[in-house]
Amino acid sequence: MMDSKKKIPVSLNTDEDGYISQECPKCEKRFKVKYGEGSDKPISFCPYCKHKGQNCWWTKEQVDYFEAVVMKESVEPEFEKMAKEVNRNSRKGSLVTVSMDFKPSPKPIVPQEPKSNWTIIFFECCGERTKHDQSQKALFCIICGKEKEYALD
Ligand SMILES: [Zn+2]
Ligand SMILES: [Zn+2]
Repeated sequence: MMDSKKKIPVSLNTDEDGYISQECPKCEKRFKVKYGEGSDKPISFCPYCKHKGQNCWWTKEQVDYFEAVVMKESVEPEFEKMAKEVNRNSRKGSLVTVSMDFKPSPKPIVPQEPKSNWTIIFFECCGERTKHDQSQKALFCIICGKEKEYALD
């Protein structure tokens, strides 16, 4: 029986401070968060444009990686099993010979986490820290959306 709820562990690289890049689907700007620290609520707002959403903050590279891992861990084993089945059955002396080739894909590569000298802003409202590119004077809390002025030097 195939376990459809199989959990696939993925791990991402972090930068030197333990932060991971996230990207807003609306303004396409990136910010960084530290998972397992600060608020335990999900990221709900873009710090730059206040776009509201959940589970939409992964960068293109991260999504590609997740898809490759899922493919490798859950789709490929099924496909391999199917290929073996077909090859086994085709050896039973029938007139038609069918064979399937199975070539495993290369191991998915975890996206690199670029180093950046971004500034960390602390949102007191939710106890959450976010790294940002310092392009804006005011930022929104990524958890509750509350605006906070950021003092540029
Ligand atoms: Zn945005
Ligand atoms: Zn907040």
